[in-house]
Amino acid sequence: MQVSTDKNRLILIVAFVALVGLLFIAFINKPPKVIDLQTYNNFLKNDLFKKAEIRDYEVILFTQEDIYSIIKDGISIEELLEKVPVEVKHSSDLSSLSFAFLLLLFIIVIAFVFAKRVKRVEKTQVNEQRQRAPELEPLSFNRKIKPSKSSVRFDDVAGIDDVKIELTEIVDYLKYPQKYLDFGIKLPRGVLLVGPPGVGKTMIAKAVAGEADVPFFYHSGSSFVQIYVGMGAKRVRELFENAKRYAPSIIFIDEIDAVGKARGGGRNDERESTLNQLLTEMDGFEDNSNIIVIAATNKIEMLDVALLRAGRFDRRVFLSLPNIKEREEIIDVYLLGKTHNVKSSEIAKMTVGFSGAALSTLVNEAALNTLKRDAMRVEIDDFLDVKDKVLLGKHKILSYSDEEKKIQATYQAAKALSAYWYEVDFEKVTMLNSFIKDVEKEIESKTQMSSKLKVYLSGFVACELIYNETYTNAALDLKKAKMIADEMVQVFAMGEGIIPSSIDSANLIDEAIEDVEQFLARTKKAIKKLETLLLEKESVTKSELQRVVGEFL
Ligand code: ADP
Repeated sequence: MQVSTDKNRLILIVAFVALVGLLFIAFINKPPKVIDLQTYNNFLKNDLFKKAEIRDYEVILFTQEDIYSIIKDGISIEELLEKVPVEVKHSSDLSSLSFAFLLLLFIIVIAFVFAKRVKRVEKTQVNEQRQRAPELEPLSFNRKIKPSKSSVRFDDVAGIDDVKIELTEIVDYLKYPQKYLDFGIKLPRGVLLVGPPGVGKTMIAKAVAGEADVPFFYHSGSSFVQIYVGMGAKRVRELFENAKRYAPSIIFIDEIDAVGKARGGGRNDERESTLNQLLTEMDGFEDNSNIIVIAATNKIEMLDVALLRAGRFDRRVFLSLPNIKEREEIIDVYLLGKTHNVKSSEIAKMTVGFSGAALSTLVNEAALNTLKRDAMRVEIDDFLDVKDKVLLGKHKILSYSDEEKKIQATYQAAKALSAYWYEVDFEKVTMLNSFIKDVEKEIESKTQMSSKLKVYLSGFVACELIYNETYTNAALDLKKAKMIADEMVQVFAMGEGIIPSSIDSANLIDEAIEDVEQFLARTKKAIKKLETLLLEKESVTKSELQRVVGEFL
């Protein structure tokens, strides 16, 4: 209201100033009166002319009161010059014209200044309104968030066939959403790719986009978390807004743990508001929104459980470091098109612990080495020359000595066996990871929680039992076990009494250790068998484990 009154006032003022200006111009442009020769002679004789202007064809004569004009050729200029001060002007009305021009300019400047003032008033008023009601701020479509078109296909990703099979369904859904809607099938909105760095999580997400031929929005979790509270949330909002405009589309959030770390402990308002926004966006999807959010993490155990609830990232796909067969396939992919004389199986054998990314670097470095020695063909020696460099360089990779491998195999075998025995769900166990399905159920019993506790302690207990020694590889699991025990006591009163005490957590852990010790002592043979299998194949699935250890349990 205020704004429009000001505008009206401005129009009135400008109109008024313009009118005055025009009247003034009309006034000063008043045409001089034409006089005849007789009157002229009279006026001249009586010295009534104060000033004269000689123009092209006329003479303008100024008396005290009036202005007169007479044809130049009709009078004697010499006579006039004797009596009256005379000015010669060539363009008859130049002075009045320039004056009018200046006046017009003046009017324009005044109008401009006024317009600016009103605009400023308007702006402050809008700002005040915004400050009063920030939630009403319309969401802007941020054009900087652009999707990319992915040219990666499933065939470009070597190995991980089981992952591809899982994701084929998502591709199909993105391609033919109606088919699923008609059948009333709900597909996951969020897929969580879990696995160590460099195993191809980003690559496979891109391949899903490439296969489905939909736009791909890449975002790293850490880029959401800003210094200013609210900025991250705004970015999340904008990202989803853009993805909706491009739907069907894929949003890929790398390192989601940067946003989705379990809450509690030190408060971080910015991260929390960002996480809340992410949860809100995911809950707000309509079933036909055709957006799939794929997120990647290395640390699922660190994620806030809210993220893992139904309707959010409820589909989880585990990727592990490639096993010997997969390494061979990846090496083949990168050797393709290079002249070489190596057996990829040989290289696969010597690259335990290498990720897909590391293998691609290794092949590249080996080829560079070939060039350096001015040779035409990549040889096995090129690989041997650069292997340590890749290991020690910026792509630092976990690579175990034989003894370390054995310890790790024992550790993981014990964990797998316990998980099986205590009925804690898991998919597979590898040399480096045991994919325990640690998803919070709505209601969990004390027995179920202590079973998990036992599984996390079993690697540690097994090493003590078998090697009479404890090792640093237990660090993460021990941390997790302590977290579970504390939660049991402090949150769920599963200790001695309702009021938590730290002794209760210690007691729970002691009891669990005792139980696991007894179990593992009985099953040393099964551990040995699993250990050998792990060393040989690097990973064991649940069904394989069942087959192998059945006879011992
Ligand atoms: P992550 O997201 O798991 O950290 P990336 O997808 O970024 O890993 O992988 C990095 C690079 O490693 C890829 O661009 C690709 O060159 C290579 N790579 C990783 N895994 C594979 C694979 N299975 N097949 C082919 N190349 C791979």
